[in-house]
Amino acid sequence: MSWIRDHIRTIPDHPIPGIQFRDVTTLFQNGEALQRVIHEMADHCRDKGITRIAGIEARGFILGGALAHQLGVGFVPVRKAGKLPWKTISRDYNLEYGTDTLEVHIDAVEAGDRVMIVDDLIATGGTAVAALELLRDVKAEVVGSLFVIDLPGLGGADRLRAEGCPAHCLVSYEGE
Ligand code: AMP
Repeated sequence: MSWIRDHIRTIPDHPIPGIQFRDVTTLFQNGEALQRVIHEMADHCRDKGITRIAGIEARGFILGGALAHQLGVGFVPVRKAGKLPWKTISRDYNLEYGTDTLEVHIDAVEAGDRVMIVDDLIATGGTAVAALELLRDVKAEVVGSLFVIDLPGLGGADRLRAEGCPAHCLVSYEGE
């Protein structure tokens, strides 16, 4: 889906030297492109019996919220530490640059919920694997994970697959 690449801005050396930051705000601000991306993501989700979308803060909220609306299913926020108001469980993880903590509410899903994890980009997979573990801890059946951008050189999508979680990405930035 090369048309998607045309809407993604690359910012060299952000936020630290050596990182090619793939900026999806340029995609989000184009109504037609955003709608097409959500339709692509919704097509991938159909016929999987998904009952909730789990979006990872913050860009995963924008995509995941629109996708949940499109599918007519609920939305679960996977948030940075200290943001959620109710009882949470948390997990620390390593980023492509730095470390962080993710949390979910202990009652974020109900028995039998089938969940798709959504974020803008997968790099090393640290973030998405932390989200996967949190969702499994609260007894979600994680059906898969869905990203706009894959950085396959960093191995995150394969890491998810090795954990038994299918991973699908709309565009891939090979060796970049
Ligand atoms: P990772 O845990 O290494 O898979 O990193 C994925 C998370 O960090 C996602 O939430 C991305 O939004 C963000 N991220 C990591 N690397 C980049 C990058 N090169 N460009 C844009 N966002 C990135």
